[in-house]
Amino acid sequence: MYDILIVGAGGGGLYAAMEAIHKNPQAKIAVVSKVYPPRSHTSAAQGGVNAALANKHKDDTIELHTFDTIKGSDYLADQDAAAYLCEMAPKVVRELENLGAPFSRFPDGSIAQRPFGGANRHRCCYCADKTGHTILQTLYEQALRMGVEFYNEYFLLSLEHQDGACNGVVVMSQRNSKVMAIPAKAIIMATGGYAKMYWHKSSNAAGLSGDGQGVALRAGIGLKDMEFVQFHPTGLRKSGLLVSEAARGEGGYLINNKGERFMSNYAPEKMELGPRDLVSRSIEMEIRHGRGFESAAGSFIKLDLTHLGKDLIMARLPQIRELAIDFEGVDPIKEPIPIRPTAHYSMGGIDCDVSTRTEMKGLYAVGECAAPSVHGANRLGGNSLLEILVFGKRAGLELQNDLPTLKPRSMNERVAVERQERRLAQFYQPDHHERLDVLRNEMGKTLGENVGIYREKKNLSKGVEEIAALRERFKKIKVHDNSRVFNTNLQQVLELQNMLDLAACVSQGALAREESRGGHSREDFPKRDDANWHKHTIAKFNAQGEVELSHKPVTMGLYPLEERTY
Ligand SMILES: Cc1cc2nc3c(=O)[nH]c(=O)nc-3n(C[C@H](O)[C@H](O)[C@H](O)COP(=O)(O)OP(=O)(O)OC[C@H]3O[C@@H](n4cnc5c(N)ncnc54)[C@H](O)[C@@H]3O)c2cc1C
Repeated sequence: MYDILIVGAGGGGLYAAMEAIHKNPQAKIAVVSKVYPPRSHTSAAQGGVNAALANKHKDDTIELHTFDTIKGSDYLADQDAAAYLCEMAPKVVRELENLGAPFSRFPDGSIAQRPFGGANRHRCCYCADKTGHTILQTLYEQALRMGVEFYNEYFLLSLEHQDGACNGVVVMSQRNSKVMAIPAKAIIMATGGYAKMYWHKSSNAAGLSGDGQGVALRAGIGLKDMEFVQFHPTGLRKSGLLVSEAARGEGGYLINNKGERFMSNYAPEKMELGPRDLVSRSIEMEIRHGRGFESAAGSFIKLDLTHLGKDLIMARLPQIRELAIDFEGVDPIKEPIPIRPTAHYSMGGIDCDVSTRTEMKGLYAVGECAAPSVHGANRLGGNSLLEILVFGKRAGLELQNDLPTLKPRSMNERVAVERQERRLAQFYQPDHHERLDVLRNEMGKTLGENVGIYREKKNLSKGVEEIAALRERFKKIKVHDNSRVFNTNLQQVLELQNMLDLAACVSQGALAREESRGGHSREDFPKRDDANWHKHTIAKFNAQGEVELSHKPVTMGLYPLEERTY
């Protein structure tokens, strides 16, 4: 029996582990992860992490950061959570610095800060364009040093609970497909996002299939604001891989086929550094109106960095250059990069509050899989790395008080394991015939076509129906690989189930929300409708596994509703 079990070894899970062990030195703590910790998606974050350190602009403040975050969220963020995020930012960034994260520096030795979308000051701290990688390495080193125990390459199958309190998880070892129960008093879910459900048009690692959210949903827990998926403006044309906002932060331009910096028509003040929802919509509009470039791999817009010069690109954007060369055959020092928007980030997630507690006793949620609602309807670049640090730390802190009150609950391990073994055995039944690759491609296609950047009733209804049909077909899915050693076919089927269950929440939430707000843009309801829709969506499964939607009020208190212009 563990005192604290953390599922997920990205930045959120590792910070939680570090803080938990620090605050509860006697506690038995372990981390479960389906990949080796340094391979978690946090390592792919390029651009940086926001904190009002005021190293560049002396007049930057926590209040300005909070306001930018709330405005960026299109006023759907819970304001207590957003305020906590920004208040803690300088503290966690300095803590990371002290732990050894090699931040880029200004000539005076202070942490360098670059401009980022939707922010009024230069407050994004970075390590060249490898910020997430360096943060994750730093945290992993520290977690190992502090003696955190790891279950690497174990796949979460279920969350076990009784009488409204969780008592452990069931996992599968990827090495030998053995299913086992891990009882624990407290569980911190930190399994990352779900934007990979858009499959071909996503910047996410293949494993960002929303496993923690899927498992929580099936355990009866509500998911918040799932319809809000962020499309990042600059994915590489062919692969959808990300070109970080840092490229525009350093001065990159977006150009249409007339050679115009078209952002002047959409965000005259902020230009390319408008918030992501706005810039992505602007790019789609240019393409729709025939002002994009055409190619066999689809229409695109150009991101021009050539005027920045070789020295700056090599010093601050080296990884972006490598990606552009490897995946598009384009060297950004010499020519513009072909880009178009790509599904990037999950604003929605496991419903929790600013303390990271969920509705289930003993269950906490942090990072991209959670929705304490700091991002509301649209996240600002640089605020997600911040979220995983701030709320990873918060979960560890909360457990200092909560752990003594959490009773060890017995768990019927045999029953729990057998239930999951029966579930896995289903995939091998002789009458099963549906193929993983077919269902997964169709899921990505219908989401991209019907639940994308621009949405309207007809398409959304089609998306809802097609996802329902895919979920039905999933009941007959076949795992063709019978081996027990690193059976990636089996693992990907399990991931597909999570993505399909969450896709039902995303599409139904999007169809229900008859307004435009942040990343959710309805062509049939182009205005924000505060009278009817200034509220969170909560999606739950009923006993038949169908999505039921309800609502929750938004916590206000700092900044009143205002029109959002840039
Ligand atoms: C390309 C890219 C660039 C980005 N750049 C930035 C940026 O510059 N600034 C910024 O603020 N944000 C950025 N983001 C967003 C940010 O990086 C992520 O939101 C954040 O790192 C998520 O961290 P996490 O700890 O929640 O999850 P992750 O880092 O995604 O880790 C998830 C963990 O959960 C584990 N897991 C998942 N499912 C299971 C399962 N079934 N069983 C066991 N373990 C499981 C995985 O093994 C992994 O360890 C970027 C995202 C991407 C994709």
